[in-house]
Amino acid sequence: MTDIEKCRITHYPADVLANAAKPVEKVDDNIRQLVEKMKDIMLANKGVGLAAPQVGVPLRLFIISLDGKREGVRVYINPTVTLEGDLAEIEEGCLSVPGIYTKIRRCKKCSVTAADLDGNEFTEEADGLYARCLQHEYDHVEGITIADRMSSAAKIAHRKQLKKLREQHGKDNET
Ligand SMILES: [Zn+2]
Repeated sequence: MTDIEKCRITHYPADVLANAAKPVEKVDDNIRQLVEKMKDIMLANKGVGLAAPQVGVPLRLFIISLDGKREGVRVYINPTVTLEGDLAEIEEGCLSVPGIYTKIRRCKKCSVTAADLDGNEFTEEADGLYARCLQHEYDHVEGITIADRMSSAAKIAHRKQLKKLREQHGKDNET
């Protein structure tokens, strides 16, 4: 496993963000340590959600804290998200795609089934910001970012920033 202390935010178009992540086989101290590190990184960057591939770890795991507080952080291990309801277009940003806020079309509702840090499975229904956040983070474990989801008009509108990110974080340039 990656050295957790060295974990940092990965940026589009890093490979780890573009490939589906692998299931967590066992919820052990490594995973608990990773989650603590992810909380540090998410809260320091004022995010409301963060997926393991966003810190360079290709595992199916993400965290969400809708109020941006450490006590409010929820952990989702090996999640599945089932989409429900109508579509809505709402502006989103992503710590891995900095400098871009763009409207993304997603379902208004969804349900999530995942395991928590004790390895217990739970299922929840979600709507509003929570549903949107779950779908955004689930995309990350599936290897999808808002750079893939945005409309072609938005890709044109944000082409300079996307190009800049590719130049800074593309295969030959990632430092
Ligand atoms: Zn994101």
